[in-house]
Amino acid sequence: MERLAQCHCGSLRATASGEPILVNTCHCKDCQRRTGAVAGDGAIYDKAQVRIEGASRIFEREAQAGRRIRFHFCPNCGTSLYWEGDIRPDWYVVAVGAFADPDFPPPSVSIFEESMHPWVLLPDNIKHARRSFLAS
Ligand SMILES: [Zn+2]
Ligand SMILES: [Zn+2]
Repeated sequence: MERLAQCHCGSLRATASGEPILVNTCHCKDCQRRTGAVAGDGAIYDKAQVRIEGASRIFEREAQAGRRIRFHFCPNCGTSLYWEGDIRPDWYVVAVGAFADPDFPPPSVSIFEESMHPWVLLPDNIKHARRSFLAS
């Protein structure tokens, strides 16, 4: 199965094949500012599952423990479509909203709940983490 994620203007696209390794919803303040939404939802794929088309620029910042994370965004419309980081160099994380597909698998992990807006509703049986689900 293939799913297509694309930026707001449609020029940057990521085609993901197969199911994501994991879907998370992240309430960290960086995701809040990056998306303009109150949480950022990411679908983790092995890089080999994802085909990228279109030009992108990179915003790189420090993540936890001195590692770096790189957000690939459309130079035309600014959507951060996917990202990758030093913590797992074999992964791409694709923005769930960019698939614009209500049937996309829901998140199984809710992370950085330390800065979650208290009115956000989460799926039943989701795992909760105050910070990252990966060891820092
Ligand atoms: Zn765009
Ligand atoms: Zn985050």
